[in-house]
Amino acid sequence: MAADHSQADKEEPSILPLLNAGFNRRYTENTNTGACLNELIQLEHGEVRLQCKLRSSTATFTALDSVSDAVEISSSDHEIQYVNPAFERLTGYTSEEILGKSTDSLMKSDGNKQEILDMMYSQLRKGKIWEGTFYTRRKNGEALVQNVYVTPVTEYGGKVKHHIFVRRGTSYNQTVALSESGQLERYKDGIDLQNGVVLNRRQSMARIHSMTIEAPITKVINIINAAQENSPITVVQALDRVLEILRTTELYSPQLNPLQVKEEDQITSDYVGGLMSNALLVLSRDKEFREQSQIAAFDSNQGINPKRKFSGSDVTLSKVTHHHIPSTSPASQHRVPPHIEAILENSSLWDFNIVELEKATNKRPLMYLGMSIFQRFGVPEFLGVSEGVILNWLQLIEANYHSANPYHNSSHAADVLHATAFFLEKDRLKACLEISDEIAAIIAAVVHDVDHPGRTNSFLCNAGSDLAVLYNDVAVLESHHSALAFQLTTRDDRCNIFKELERDDYRQIRQTIIDMVLATEMVRHFEHLSKFVNSIKPAMKDIDDGSSMHSGGRGTPDSSSTSAALTTPENRMLIKRMLIKCADISNPARPLNLCIEWANRIAQEYCSQTDEEKRRGLPVVMPVFERNTLCVSKSQVSFIDYFVVDMFDAWETFADCSEVTTHLQNNYKYWKQEEEKDRRGKSEKK
Ligand code: AMP
Ligand code: ZN
Repeated sequence: MAADHSQADKEEPSILPLLNAGFNRRYTENTNTGACLNELIQLEHGEVRLQCKLRSSTATFTALDSVSDAVEISSSDHEIQYVNPAFERLTGYTSEEILGKSTDSLMKSDGNKQEILDMMYSQLRKGKIWEGTFYTRRKNGEALVQNVYVTPVTEYGGKVKHHIFVRRGTSYNQTVALSESGQLERYKDGIDLQNGVVLNRRQSMARIHSMTIEAPITKVINIINAAQENSPITVVQALDRVLEILRTTELYSPQLNPLQVKEEDQITSDYVGGLMSNALLVLSRDKEFREQSQIAAFDSNQGINPKRKFSGSDVTLSKVTHHHIPSTSPASQHRVPPHIEAILENSSLWDFNIVELEKATNKRPLMYLGMSIFQRFGVPEFLGVSEGVILNWLQLIEANYHSANPYHNSSHAADVLHATAFFLEKDRLKACLEISDEIAAIIAAVVHDVDHPGRTNSFLCNAGSDLAVLYNDVAVLESHHSALAFQLTTRDDRCNIFKELERDDYRQIRQTIIDMVLATEMVRHFEHLSKFVNSIKPAMKDIDDGSSMHSGGRGTPDSSSTSAALTTPENRMLIKRMLIKCADISNPARPLNLCIEWANRIAQEYCSQTDEEKRRGLPVVMPVFERNTLCVSKSQVSFIDYFVVDMFDAWETFADCSEVTTHLQNNYKYWKQEEEKDRRGKSEKK
């Protein structure tokens, strides 16, 4: 400001009294018109303009309050400074919750988040507008696709001071509808011109993100994303690891790292490979097989055909013609010899001796025990068929088990049937299951391994057997047992135990039987166990807490009360799966003499598979089951440790069957001692 010396030298009084009195500007009187004019021009360019701007910004913010687009203003370092009510509605966050946060804090931490942000900030830094798609989530974790339009606001001198985000949320349906009406296309065309982003990719990404909103796993991921928001970094990192795992498909399959498999874990790794995998090769066997393949390739150079026969035409596992109804005497003539009757008298006890029955019945224990159990559970009455039909059916199914198999023969089916019936008589099961569930479970146990070839699924897949081809290498044997059971049953009225059922009842029992037989596939062992534990334990807790009770009505008065949650169709299904699974691998929990018998039988069957694999040049899926080197005790310790202990632990809590688990504990100790003896014997020999 220009001023002459005489004026400057004068004493200048303080402005404060004037301001306090309500004035906001002091003008010095001046007789010079030009000076007056300049003063006015300065007023117009300065305060008046600012006043007008301030008044219009109030109007602007009022307008922002009522627009339907979500608007956010953030600082140049991406801190949110203002959001309008539409933003609050769109995201579910209040302005108090969101102000001060980072612009990208609502975005999902997907693989392409950083890519999008980098693209956007590089545009904005140049002072250019950016348009694109944000994959975000609402406060409640729900996924939300947002079309975002960002404008940088520059101050005098060209420095970017603010960013203004205009966000529009779309659901999948809206995306498609807009796209079909052409609106979205126009919107996206703009985006693509400016950012060079391929239209189709963006569209499909939006579709994928919004489509998966419905999937339960996506909801879980969104909830975790939301929980990460205000968590300390250690929790965020732990949850990132959780998300990584959740994104895999094999959620229930334990992963054994071949590099970490110690020698003593070799049997476990063999079980995992042999029972839980359909793959051609297993874990550490990969290398071995590759070497074998190289040898084969070498052989071909010598003129020897290296191709293994995986065609299946040489695999004669499944009988081409199945046994038809045996020419038996009618049920009225089904006289049970007294010595067999005497054995069957103990059939409701856990200590029942199935091997004794096997001998007494000349390897037809399934028919005799089946008849006895079917009568005890009122199966003929429930199905509305005569005992003759039941007898025919049992004989037919038994005839389709391979009596030459050391383990997977009709005695194993009878053993599983016995265990199933035993568990069904526990109060908890009576309280949770309906009669139709019991009948289905009994039938499923009888048929669950019918026509078993004495070879594992892995073997059949590696051999390219007809069955593996038919079932696409997926649950090959279990699919076959179930399918064949229904084929055999419905082929002839004389043995069709379902012939009197109404269509809907038949469909229901059929579905349950199929589900139970498929549940015996060991590939999904941990899935069934985890689901049972996760669903049944909370329902059991209700009972302990005394809440949510109702009377099942079929057990004893005090133990029949059960949580309503346990009797839902979903939980009944989990119980039935666990029931047949526990029955199927209950031999390690049988009285010691029986437990040893079954262990030797399965070992014999596995060894015979190894022999055949070697003979035919197939990959050896369980090399520890090699006749000359096998240690049965070691194989049992591993099998019990890996598959049986946790399962029976969960089952005992539910079914209250300590007589079973006591045997299991004692048998385990026995196998441990035997293993130790074997180890000492071997080290003495050295
Ligand atoms: P399944 O073929 O339906 O009998 O399924 C049960 C699986 O567990 C089969 O693969 C059996 O070979 C296996 N298994 C049952 N008991 C034993 C045991 N004591 N030792 C080793 N494997 C067993
Ligand atoms: Zn079985």
